[in-house]
Amino acid sequence: MSDRKIIVLTAPSGAGKTTIARRVMAEIPELSFSVSATTREARPDETHGEDYFFLSDEAFRSYVDQGEVLEYEEVYPGQFYGTLRSEVASKAEDGGVLLDIDVRGAHSVKDAFGDDARVLFVAPPSMEELRRRLRKRGTESDRALRERLERAEMEMDEADRFDAVVVNDDLDRAVEETLQEIRQFLSS
Ligand code: 5GP
Repeated sequence: MSDRKIIVLTAPSGAGKTTIARRVMAEIPELSFSVSATTREARPDETHGEDYFFLSDEAFRSYVDQGEVLEYEEVYPGQFYGTLRSEVASKAEDGGVLLDIDVRGAHSVKDAFGDDARVLFVAPPSMEELRRRLRKRGTESDRALRERLERAEMEMDEADRFDAVVVNDDLDRAVEETLQEIRQFLSS
């Protein structure tokens, strides 16, 4: 039995997983958050080192070349996101680590860690609702919005490949369900 506990929260963009991840982090103090590296621009409310490590393309590439990235994806054209080995290594054995990553990245982590990883897929109630949420968020250009929606359709098709699916129709209920899944895994 390994003591590594890796929890992966994955979902189409706009399904609400980042909100759920924040609530989970507040509720389970022993859990650490894996801060990913990305080449996308920081949004106004984001902090380097807390939400992401915001890197130039060159810096990101050099992390990858040095083998410091566990998995990475070009989640949107020209925008790279990657899980850092250093984030997962110690945190996974020290109370567990939570990753908030895209669907393909989640597959890679599951392939790498098997039963040490539990992948929870957060599904929006419907594609209509997802579209509405992404529009309302207003952080993306029309083109980025379109790309995110196209990608979401593909990701929804993969929902049944994960360890559990949490439907985010009601945020409080979805957080409760996610907490239950995580607590069960952490105590297993
Ligand atoms: P956003 O730009 O909205 O913060 O994130 C876009 C997508 O990239 C989300 O689905 C997010 O979970 C995913 N993402 C964030 N970090 C990583 C990572 O390290 N690896 C992968 N594969 N996806 C990530």
